[in-house]
Amino acid sequence: MSKRVIMAAGNWKMNKTPSEAVEFVNSLKDRVAGSTAEVVVGVPFVCIPGVIEAVKGSNIKVAAQNVHWEPNGAYTGEVSCKMLKDLGVDYVIIGHSERREYFAETNEMINKKARAILDAGMTPIICCGESLTQREQGVTAEHVRYQIKVALLGLSAEEVSRIVIAYEPIWAIGTGKTATTEQAEEVCGIIRELLVELYGKDTAEKTRILYGGSVKADNAKELFAMPNIDGGLVGGASLKLDEFEKIVKHDA
Ligand code: PEP
Repeated sequence: MSKRVIMAAGNWKMNKTPSEAVEFVNSLKDRVAGSTAEVVVGVPFVCIPGVIEAVKGSNIKVAAQNVHWEPNGAYTGEVSCKMLKDLGVDYVIIGHSERREYFAETNEMINKKARAILDAGMTPIICCGESLTQREQGVTAEHVRYQIKVALLGLSAEEVSRIVIAYEPIWAIGTGKTATTEQAEEVCGIIRELLVELYGKDTAEKTRILYGGSVKADNAKELFAMPNIDGGLVGGASLKLDEFEKIVKHDA
C-alpha cells in the first residue's frame, strides 16, 4: 500500500495577532500552492475567522488548538466544537503536552474532546509523548500506548482511520533537540502496532501519525520519509515563512 498523504501542520501556540496571522497566511498560500503535502495552520482562537477568510480558495486548512467537549453551557472562557465548525475549522489539536502540563488536560478529557470533535464533523489531531524521565526509565512504549488507548476509547475503526495522531516527545518540544529519525520512527511504529491490535490492519494503515518536536527545514525530509511517519506537527518553525514553506515542500 502506498504511504498516506503527508501532513505539515503548524502549531502556532500563543503567537501572532489576528492581523499578523492574516498577513502570514496571505504570503504562505502562494508559497505552498500545489504542494503534495496537506498544509494545516493551527492558530489561536481569535485568529481563526480572519485566517479562514484569507485561505479561502487555497490548499491551506485551519486547525484550532483546543476545544471543550460540551456543546454549550456555563463554561466561562471555553469554546465549543459547534462554534469552531461554524467558522469552517477542519482540525482541532488536542492533548498537546503544554495543555496537559499547564491546564491539567487528562487522557479522559482528551477522549471526550475527540468524541465531540468527530461528532461535529471535524478531525482531531491527538498528541501524545513521553517525558525525558519516562524515556530514561524505559517506559516510553507503555506510556504512549496508554495515552492513545484511552484517547480513542469508544471510537469506531472508521473514525480512527480518519483521525491524526501526533507523537511528540516532550523533551524534543521547543528545545531544538529533535528525536533521531530512528527514535521517532520506533515510537510511531509502536503507535501503529497498537492501532493494528485495537482496530485491525486496514484501519491502522490509513491513520496518519505525525512526528513533532523541533521539526525544521533540514530534518523534515528524512523524518517524513520514514515508513510510519506521515508528516509533522511543527511549533517554532511554523511561525517562519521560509522554514515552514521548506517543511511543506520537504520532498521537492
Ligand atoms: C509543538 O509544540 O507541537 C512542537 C512540536 O513544537 P516545536 O516544533 O517548536 O518543538
